[in-house]
Amino acid sequence: MIPVAFDYQRATTVDEALAALSEDSKILAGGHSLLPAMKLRLNQPGKLIDITRIDALKGIKEEDGEIVIGAATTHGAIAGNELIKQHLPFFAEGASWIGDVQVRNHGTIGGSLAHADPAADWSALVLAADAAIEVQSTRGKRRIQAAVFFVSMFTTALEEGEIITAIRIPVPPAGTKTTYQKFVQPASRFAIVGCAIMRKPDGTTNIAFTGVSDTPFRDGGAEAAASSSIDAALNAAIAGVSVMSDHYASEEYRKHLAKVYLKKALQAVS
Ligand SMILES: Cc1cc2nc3c(=O)[nH]c(=O)nc-3n(C[C@H](O)[C@H](O)[C@H](O)COP(=O)(O)OP(=O)(O)OC[C@H]3O[C@@H](n4cnc5c(N)ncnc54)[C@H](O)[C@@H]3O)c2cc1C
Repeated sequence: MIPVAFDYQRATTVDEALAALSEDSKILAGGHSLLPAMKLRLNQPGKLIDITRIDALKGIKEEDGEIVIGAATTHGAIAGNELIKQHLPFFAEGASWIGDVQVRNHGTIGGSLAHADPAADWSALVLAADAAIEVQSTRGKRRIQAAVFFVSMFTTALEEGEIITAIRIPVPPAGTKTTYQKFVQPASRFAIVGCAIMRKPDGTTNIAFTGVSDTPFRDGGAEAAASSSIDAALNAAIAGVSVMSDHYASEEYRKHLAKVYLKKALQAVS
């Protein structure tokens, strides 16, 4: 299908993008979620504000004990980045599993987080990494912890007029192990189930799921039980979670997959 007519503006600074934002406009990053939605006329913005040429929103650096990933950094750039491979190898692993080469070369981490698809990979990764989402509007800047960023399917804690500018992750202590295990939808490569784990040397185990429920989540029950044994964590996992059911996977099958992929993930960080 063809989208309805819209205006287009290429912003070169964050301030320019913020000034252009209105009720009728939308940020355009990689376009890999927004443009399909516009073609289906699920989304009909009057204006697109392209942020892909804003240098300040791109790149990866270490700053004040945090790894900082610009919101307009592509999945592909993250997958190949040495700082990421060194400190957050599961980010590189997860990014390299997203879609195909075209999607990875255009799609951005900020766009994926803002879109909040319940089967997206970044959500589980930022949750397990205790990341903060840095946002900016004409009212100023603020940080939103990943734990409260995802509100429901396709809905986040972003407020009117806010742009994600960066993702900030505390540099994990030396000896931290991470993994991302994903049961892939064979056509799109979205996660039918994705499980991200960060295990710190003190034994703290962060466990996050995507694809399982309509909102990605940290599994507190499994995290607490993981200090005893893998079996204990598997028994405790997914308790009280409303599990999705669709034409790819029934509720029962998805719940089973979640435990299978949790087991793989726990074995990988043991
Ligand atoms: C064939 C295909 C396969 C895919 N496979 C996967 C997969 O396996 N795993 C996966 O996780 N994803 C997958 N995706 C989705 C892909 O990762 C998208 O790139 C991502 O969901 C959206 O990022 P984007 O940069 O393209 O955002 P866009 O499509 O440009 O924007 C998406 C939404 O976010 C908003 N937005 C964008 N940037 C910002 C910002 N900085 N601040 C505030 N709002 C912003 C836009 O206004 C829009 O509402 C796939 C997509 C396709 C087309």
